[in-house]
Amino acid sequence: EFRRAARINGIEISQIVQISETAAQMRADGHDVVALSTGAPDFPTPDFVIQAAHNAALAGQTGYTATAGTNELRDEIAAQSHVTRAHVIVSTGAKQVLANAMLATLNDGDEVIIPTPYWTSYSDIVTMAGGTAVTVPCPMSQGFKLTPEDLEKAISPETRWLMLNSPSNPSGAIYTKSEIRALAQVLANHPHVWVLADEIYEHLSYVPFTSFAVAAPELAGRTLIVNGVSKAWAMTGWRIGWGIGPAPLIRAMIAVQGQITSGACSISQAAALAALTGDRKLLSDRLQDFDARRKLVVGGLNAMAGITCPEPDGAFYVFPNIEGMMAKGGFATCTDACNWLLEKAHVAIVPGTAFGLPGHARISFAYGQDDLNEGLTRMASALKNCV
Ligand code: PLP
Repeated sequence: EFRRAARINGIEISQIVQISETAAQMRADGHDVVALSTGAPDFPTPDFVIQAAHNAALAGQTGYTATAGTNELRDEIAAQSHVTRAHVIVSTGAKQVLANAMLATLNDGDEVIIPTPYWTSYSDIVTMAGGTAVTVPCPMSQGFKLTPEDLEKAISPETRWLMLNSPSNPSGAIYTKSEIRALAQVLANHPHVWVLADEIYEHLSYVPFTSFAVAAPELAGRTLIVNGVSKAWAMTGWRIGWGIGPAPLIRAMIAVQGQITSGACSISQAAALAALTGDRKLLSDRLQDFDARRKLVVGGLNAMAGITCPEPDGAFYVFPNIEGMMAKGGFATCTDACNWLLEKAHVAIVPGTAFGLPGHARISFAYGQDDLNEGLTRMASALKNCV
């Protein structure tokens, strides 16, 4: 009889993927579904990046690369972050960087502090690696951000990591330089706590962005920066992300990666190198587009009764409070409300429970304005009829 390992008790494919797959199935069954559930830009990967991949494949860059990534790509990442190659690992998406880091460092029962709401995979990756996720509520009233006081309270002798995500998925919150400094001051008194700063949405910032590494250089000896090409360059399918951190940590992560994937795809690494060294005008053009969508979605949602939507500072999600709508429609949970919207209005959005904060929902605006307008119109008319 089949038996799952205890290590993956309670772990399933993420609720985000489940909803997106349900929406895709409904579409395949002939329903006209507007999916606003996925965090993948609707833009294509830039042509020059695809061309570089093509050239690399034709030039024979089709074998295994070094486990940690090609020297060219690691050196470029290192140069852009003012470190050396030994501080860089290239992995199969930013997600694998997170998994490598947790597998390489956590012993059973080690704690990882996760400000909540958080990207769905954080807690599952920690659990799979044998750690204990310590979620710290960061409600809308505090801009969905961790306060220094709450950080101090959450730290125990077992704490191994603080996982910080700025700009945040799902809230779009960005920690300012002074907010990072305030957190760093708490961490200064707890030298056993390391920081994983996931900055995958760095280039999708509508307000000034400060990297944790820049704001808190004194913690460089225990900071891992996570980044990648997936979001900004619209390259989610190429699966390239990287980690930048202390050399002993990077070596341990390379050891883990070597036993799991052997390393990232050679062609994708050539593509990522082209992205990193190429013209960045495309990024600023797209950012303007995302900004217009952000305003459209925030305005549209705030016009609906029972929905309160703060303006996100970064990424391409809004994370409104929908408790008014839940009360009005008699929905016990935000999951019920989102399921109802999918069934009745054929709009797919993700309930806040997927991010550890019920009473909210995440709407992605990584979609074209037509889809966004259609989704908003459907939501508004469904809400009018839900009482
Ligand atoms: N980190 C955050 C906060 C994300 O939202 C995502 C993707 O949704 C990732 C990491 C994973 O990125 P990648 O597709 O490069 O693995």
